Amino acid sequence: MDIIMATHNRHKLEELSRILRPLGLRAVGEAETGFHLPEVEETGTTFEENALLKARSACAFTGMTAVADDSGLCVDALDGAPGLYSARYAGEDADTDANNRKLLRALKDVPEGQRTARFVSVVACVFPDGREFCVRGECEGSIAFEPHGNGGFGYDPLFLSPIGYFGEISAEEKDRVSHRGAALRLFAKEIQKYL
Ligand code: IMP
Repeated sequence: MDIIMATHNRHKLEELSRILRPLGLRAVGEAETGFHLPEVEETGTTFEENALLKARSACAFTGMTAVADDSGLCVDALDGAPGLYSARYAGEDADTDANNRKLLRALKDVPEGQRTARFVSVVACVFPDGREFCVRGECEGSIAFEPHGNGGFGYDPLFLSPIGYFGEISAEEKDRVSHRGAALRLFAKEIQKYL
């Protein structure tokens, strides 16, 4: 069975493909299907709502089983911010550097020990017959005082995970402890109940 993933991010599509292949499932994107998925406004108030909005839209548009994800960084000292707004924390067109600088500024007076945070990843799956489910993966850590390494993407250089800064560890190491790795492993387990 082919499953369409509603993302423009090839890296996410490859990650999902790796997880689904052993189950005899194939993850495909817009490029493979020829579909041009409509943009979805992320109006939800939780990661689950936003992931489901995107997966429902892709399923309705294509008639295929659809998967979408939503993720972000939640910082305790900032009451969970940037959270749902992680990608656009410093503004609609803000780049990674601007987002990271804003986060460091927001935390400049917060001492070590109170800089706890977690990455969250929710993966939603919607079937053409209306069934749907979500899984959530989290990775606990803390926010550094300055960037460490330049691997990964987004907030990775600022995030100290239990095995090191996400900006300094390899992709394989990150997969083992990351929120997205955890969510995708749960996803692989859960989808088997629906096949
Ligand atoms: P989205 O789920 O693709 O919309 O991503 C939301 C935002 O959360 C990204 O743009 C990043 O800023 C942040 N984010 C999510 N996962 C990660 C990660 O693994 N490393 C660094 N930043 C991340």
